[in-house]
Amino acid sequence: MDPNSFPVRIFLGMFHSGGEVGAGAMERKVDPRGGMYLAPLLMMNTETSKDSLVRWLDREATLRIVATDATHTTRALCLLHDLEGETARTFARAVLGGLLLASDLKSFQTLSLQIEIADRVYHIDATGEALVRAMVTRRAHETPVSRLALRRFGQKGMLYQSVVDIPSQDIAGVFEGFVLQSDQQVMRACLECELDPQGLPVGVQGALVRGFPDTPAGALQALIARWDLRVGWKVDDPAAGLDDRTWDRLSHQAVEHHCPCSRERALGSVRALGDVALREAASKGEPMEVVCDFCRSVYSFGPAEFAPESAG
Ligand SMILES: [Zn+2]
Repeated sequence: MDPNSFPVRIFLGMFHSGGEVGAGAMERKVDPRGGMYLAPLLMMNTETSKDSLVRWLDREATLRIVATDATHTTRALCLLHDLEGETARTFARAVLGGLLLASDLKSFQTLSLQIEIADRVYHIDATGEALVRAMVTRRAHETPVSRLALRRFGQKGMLYQSVVDIPSQDIAGVFEGFVLQSDQQVMRACLECELDPQGLPVGVQGALVRGFPDTPAGALQALIARWDLRVGWKVDDPAAGLDDRTWDRLSHQAVEHHCPCSRERALGSVRALGDVALREAASKGEPMEVVCDFCRSVYSFGPAEFAPESAG
């Protein structure tokens, strides 16, 4: 058996602490291959804080716009996960959508999205503080219908869950279709991503134009119509030149990559394999390795650490 293809998926907690439920998948690997993930992670830390997310509200408090530039974050994530071309573009646009949807969250809440579209599944976790992590997996069966599964977590576990099938192959259409079906709200999702000659994302910016449950439908439709007609917009001031309303900026945040995996959680996931498997692995004297699928961090444990006897 090839030790590198030992596909034990282990579920870790989310950003919130203490929760058992979560979307963070770790893959256990027996063969240690450290070091290779260092470069993208380093870049992640130095580059991504240049990205930003801004929230705007009109003076009558009936319409809202949230906008983000996530060029550095999505570019680093594509390098981390070896993505380029159209998959990288869809991935970057999915990350934009996740960050923008999560901007509604209260403190200490996390949005976990799983978007099945074409032949891929995009996994995005984002918080109201604009922390994000993301990864892509292959989809088992490709269908013309996309699916968005959204879960919202608080400090005590899952607060909300919604799964919606959307007959669209475009990621912006998927987000709009989800909000329409799940919340009965019209929304314009503008998710832009160019690709450089290497097929990596550049100019990754997005915005959501929305109302509130009691916003007059006509006012929102008129705003969306003007948004669609306008050529070009800036993340720092997305309402510029849009209409004659007064818009107030509510917040301006840095977007940052963040993965809550840790050595402690990785060891917990190894121990969850059970005494029989651990005793067998320990008897071979080989280290156990856990690789986080989201951030590619590698955690390695010697037999003395994971053997059932040492677990107490
Ligand atoms: Zn991680």
